[in-house]
Amino acid sequence: MDLVIARPEGLYCPPGDFYIDPWRPVERSVITHAHGDHARTGNEHYLAAAPGEGILRSRLGQDINLQTLAYGESITHHGVKLSFHPAGHVLGSAQVRLEYQGEIWVASGDYKVEPDGTCEPFEPVRCHTFITESTFGLPIYRWQPQSEIFAGINEWWRANAAAGKASVLFAYSFGKAQRILHGIDPSIGPILVHGAVEPLNRVYREAGVRIPETHYAGDFKKTDPALRSALIVAPPSAGGSTWMRRFGEFSDAFASGWMMLRGTRRRRGVDRGFALSDHADWPGLLWAIENTGAERVMVTHGSVAVLVRYLRELGLDAQGFSTEYGDEEDDAAAKTEPASESASTGEASP
Ligand SMILES: [Zn+2]
Ligand SMILES: [Zn+2]
Repeated sequence: MDLVIARPEGLYCPPGDFYIDPWRPVERSVITHAHGDHARTGNEHYLAAAPGEGILRSRLGQDINLQTLAYGESITHHGVKLSFHPAGHVLGSAQVRLEYQGEIWVASGDYKVEPDGTCEPFEPVRCHTFITESTFGLPIYRWQPQSEIFAGINEWWRANAAAGKASVLFAYSFGKAQRILHGIDPSIGPILVHGAVEPLNRVYREAGVRIPETHYAGDFKKTDPALRSALIVAPPSAGGSTWMRRFGEFSDAFASGWMMLRGTRRRRGVDRGFALSDHADWPGLLWAIENTGAERVMVTHGSVAVLVRYLRELGLDAQGFSTEYGDEEDDAAAKTEPASESASTGEASP
């Protein structure tokens, strides 16, 4: 018996009668993490991992009907034992483990395997069937260690500051922005953030994640000398907007896994690209899949066909699962992919 099937509302557990990250409103939802394509408004009941509560409430509303479980804690619903396990993607992100009549399924949600200091690191969970994401499921995607990426960001920022220019770094406002703030060297200069980023910084700080002091960029005038050595962290949507005019002369950069593709950086029209992703790269996906011990693997959002074919060659029972999950992390970058590159990366539209 399949513990999770695809339904028009989302991934559904028939014996438990609940949905995982549904894209249409349902009665009972189990949420892996608070990115917009996985956590939507309108569900009657939400169940999520406890460390994600602050983010979920700040994004979906303080009054949602939310029940939480600590990582590893379990509840049984209609005979299905359910527990959350760290996915290492963003604060509060979880894999969902389901156990029913001896069958064990794990739905990964989004995950990455490199610990980043801003959330609990990914933990492989043994199961019979693993539902994995595959956002970067192509052999070309291999991340550099994040220490090297952060060294590159610091070096770029320092050089701009020495030249009297502001450094504007575009990053998704939930998860990526906080990971960057946690990882950079705050002694280089003042750190300014866009209004979309600061509320999430607050939730991370409340959760005990070290985020250096940040200032609201809107409070600075164009003539303020502090801007000339500042790092400004803003969502991709701020690029090219009037909001940017206040920074005078600046260098800009984009932090995203898609920056591994030279074409994406060129189309974004930014000076620099830093290939920093909150998703597993190709070796990370294969490592995670292997460590579940699963014989059956269902592949969602991303390069589904390529990963499915590869897993079948390894002798696994693999198949694609059609979902409406997008690429929350780097939506703006992904949207500019031309048809040819979309085809090769198998990008689902967000
Ligand atoms: Zn996500
Ligand atoms: Zn996703």
